[in-house]
Amino acid sequence: MTVHFPFQNTYAALPDGFFARVAPTPVASPRLVKLNRPLAVRLGLDPDRLESSEGVEILAGKRIPDGAQPIATAYAGHQFGHFVPQLGDGRAILLGEVVDIDGIRRDIQLKGSGPTPFSRRGDGRAALGPVLREYIVSEAMAALGIPTTRSLAATITGEQVIRETPLPGAVLTRVASSHIRVGTFQYFAARGDTEGVRRLADHAIARHYPQAAQAERPYHALLEGVVTRQAELVARWLLVGFIHGVMNTDNTSISGETIDYGPCAFLDHYDPAAVFSSIDEQGRYAYANQPKIALWNLTRLAECLLSLFSDDKDKAIEQAQLILGEFPAKFTAAYQSGLRQKIGLFTQRDGDEALVQDLLDAMAKNHADFTLTFRHLSDAAADTNRDSDVRRHFTDPAAYDEWATRWRQRIGEEPQTPAARAATMRTVNPAFIPRNHRIEAVIQAAIGCNDFAPFEELLTVLSKPYEDQPGFSKYAEPPEPDQRVLQTFCGT
Ligand code: AMP
Ligand code: MG
Repeated sequence: MTVHFPFQNTYAALPDGFFARVAPTPVASPRLVKLNRPLAVRLGLDPDRLESSEGVEILAGKRIPDGAQPIATAYAGHQFGHFVPQLGDGRAILLGEVVDIDGIRRDIQLKGSGPTPFSRRGDGRAALGPVLREYIVSEAMAALGIPTTRSLAATITGEQVIRETPLPGAVLTRVASSHIRVGTFQYFAARGDTEGVRRLADHAIARHYPQAAQAERPYHALLEGVVTRQAELVARWLLVGFIHGVMNTDNTSISGETIDYGPCAFLDHYDPAAVFSSIDEQGRYAYANQPKIALWNLTRLAECLLSLFSDDKDKAIEQAQLILGEFPAKFTAAYQSGLRQKIGLFTQRDGDEALVQDLLDAMAKNHADFTLTFRHLSDAAADTNRDSDVRRHFTDPAAYDEWATRWRQRIGEEPQTPAARAATMRTVNPAFIPRNHRIEAVIQAAIGCNDFAPFEELLTVLSKPYEDQPGFSKYAEPPEPDQRVLQTFCGT
């Protein structure tokens, strides 16, 4: 039973300087932890064959499938504001691309599959904990409807990786609409390789922004497209309380997908200044800073494209500034429209922004749980008796009562029935998010007791975040004080 991947290798067909050809390092005794069967089907792959011993060997990097042209891609990046001219895939290997059932080209990449020429001081490996974490959070994001890379599989290698302590080694099979990053452009621009920038831009346009090819100025249209998608992406993050944690330019995807889940986290109580990442000492990537940082990263991308914009540098800068200048309006439009939906407004009126901001301010002041406040507000929209469910999230419940009077007056001006409003609100206000304490518990059970049942159960709950799932209601709850996770780690 041979596993067939209908690979195409358009990135590997780019010039040599774009990547290093390198095969995964064979591992001792691979074992499948999880195959994402529905995703395999979408990719045109046979899930049964992927679960065979040959399939598992491929997913763990022990065997190279026919048609693969394994490469590690080159990229640079600003890490916490400091430019590093060469990063690259130090522990990831792209096997190739497949075109999925929707006709979209998807990279299939192994993460943690051994050293590459870009590994620097790293071992090229991944530990089980961060692999499970990325699997859970990326699939949760997909179920929430947020653009993201996906997880096709998690395998255990049968080898240990040495971090602070020895840990089980693992490989994540990641699926992305591409792995081109802002840092990929920076890699060529920093070397003064305008031809490289042009080749990469043409590839990115063909792959992600085909309409830009028809535009009068395709490279300007490319930047416009990335600005739009990043503005919308970061708005979506804020609307579900997501903190990426390490928004370096090498972790910013040109396709507009969320990529590189390291020390990411979801808010429990609402706090705009929240930071979980142990390596983000200055709070550069705090929850509410994310739009500003996205624009900073896009500005780095624009700098790379200047040489394609115009031979006249001043003119090129002026053109780039015009495009970047659209970011705040694009972000605000997406964010405000999302917030209006979260409080159940169907129309837009003066005063709406202040109304929703006053709720957020009260939530911050009263340590209200971000997810459950909005979820329970959906119930309260249909039934005033359910106000008690919202009130309980506020340290001073009167803060909610005061706001709710104004809110009821505003929604009362719209013709929709309370039931229709509540139903619509439930489609944008999830009940279930991957809470940090739940992820930690899953990882502890897997590493400490070799028990993957909690991992499976959490994935099941998170696959339907907008449904009530009464049997799993404990997963909706915030952590008890002794369960709170204060810090997350990048796990490299
Ligand atoms: P990240 O913080 O995961 O986005 O990674 C930043 C850079 O470090 C990228 O170039 C990674 O490929 C590289 N890197 C991270 N972990 C490892 C590792 N264990 N071995 C080699 N390179 C790594
Ligand atoms: Mg990265």
